[in-house]
Amino acid sequence: MKILVINAGSSSLKYQLLNMDDESVIAKGNCDRIGIGGHIKHTTFDGRTIDEDCDFPTHTEAFEKLVEVLTKSDAAVLNSMDEISAVGHRIVQGAEVFDKTTLVTDEVIQQIDDLSELAPVHNHPHALALRACKKVIPETTPQVVVFDTAFHQTMPEKAFMYGLPFECYEKFHVRKYGFHGTSHRFVSQALAEAMGKDIKDLKIVSCHLGNGSSITAVEGGKSIDTSMGFTPLDGVIMGTRCGAVDASAVTFVAKKLGLSAGEMSEYMNKKSGFLGVSGISSDNRDISAAAQEGNKRAILAGEMLRYEIKKYIGSYAAVMNGLDAVLFTGGIGENSDDLRADVCHDMEYLGIKFDDNANKGLRGKLAKISAPDSKVEVWVVPTNEELLIARDTKALVESMK
Ligand code: AMP
Repeated sequence: MKILVINAGSSSLKYQLLNMDDESVIAKGNCDRIGIGGHIKHTTFDGRTIDEDCDFPTHTEAFEKLVEVLTKSDAAVLNSMDEISAVGHRIVQGAEVFDKTTLVTDEVIQQIDDLSELAPVHNHPHALALRACKKVIPETTPQVVVFDTAFHQTMPEKAFMYGLPFECYEKFHVRKYGFHGTSHRFVSQALAEAMGKDIKDLKIVSCHLGNGSSITAVEGGKSIDTSMGFTPLDGVIMGTRCGAVDASAVTFVAKKLGLSAGEMSEYMNKKSGFLGVSGISSDNRDISAAAQEGNKRAILAGEMLRYEIKKYIGSYAAVMNGLDAVLFTGGIGENSDDLRADVCHDMEYLGIKFDDNANKGLRGKLAKISAPDSKVEVWVVPTNEELLIARDTKALVESMK
């Protein structure tokens, strides 16, 4: 069974074609500059590539090009689109409307579009891509949507509510939704398998650390709390996002700088975080390099992230009344040995005994990095959101037969 996975943004359309018989990637790539030009980068499993400028006024032209590249180009991997059993789409915001992977209908696309107010950067482009995809794939090919927020719909009210007047929730749907759910679900399940345990018996803190970062308490396989909130701005300091800030500081700064609500949002989402604190870069590698050269603000940015992660691990251990494992994933979590070590050192009280040797040079590999006699296990678990979307899509399509 072949599944096409789509991750659409406002100007891009990332894709992976997977063979679900062995879960291998047949081809992958990205159509970007949609609406402002057009470009496709495509690679096949046997090393054929396409890298060319195109004309993509809308997502529809990008999908048309994708079909051509997959079926008719020098880097084709299909005889026809009929070989694709289903298409799985990543959707950022499902709110309380969608708590699980769902088959796409016209009504579902409209509901996703209607949620755009809660995720303006993501949901409307998702809806555009879903409609464009429908135009170019055979009518009989099912489309499936997998939501970043769905995994967190198991959070209890006391975890997802804010202390604002209740009408903010009732009228405007303001609450914690949480994000990166597909990743947290994938890695926590993979961790349980690696530990040889049933996930139902585990209390896990899952640290997804990348350009965007979120930390989730996973108890018995369910998200019970997470660091991101109403939007992906909340929680720990990120590449360009500030993370949690006293809301009064936000209104104070907006007034001081004379920024509108939209401009203040941009300030916190695009100009803050590692970039804003260090004044150097949003990228963890640049921050680490500058810190090593003694740059004080780069050192501070790195220390803030490490400190905040420690606090989340401690608080989630408290609310779960225990902790079996901590896992690290995402670009930083998988690759930054020193961050993992800094977070996990001096956590003996919590039952973490770190293994510095096992922690080194793991780049993208599943590995245990705690000592054999550590009460709490610590692992690096590479994430693979596309694979989980493909698995979910396959399972849903097979359940319809
Ligand atoms: P992601 O958003 O998951 O792709 O992660 C991107 C982040 O991972 C960036 O801040 C990168 O600097 C960081 N990253 C990627 N590779 C490494 C590495 N080898 N060492 C440290 N950080 C890395």
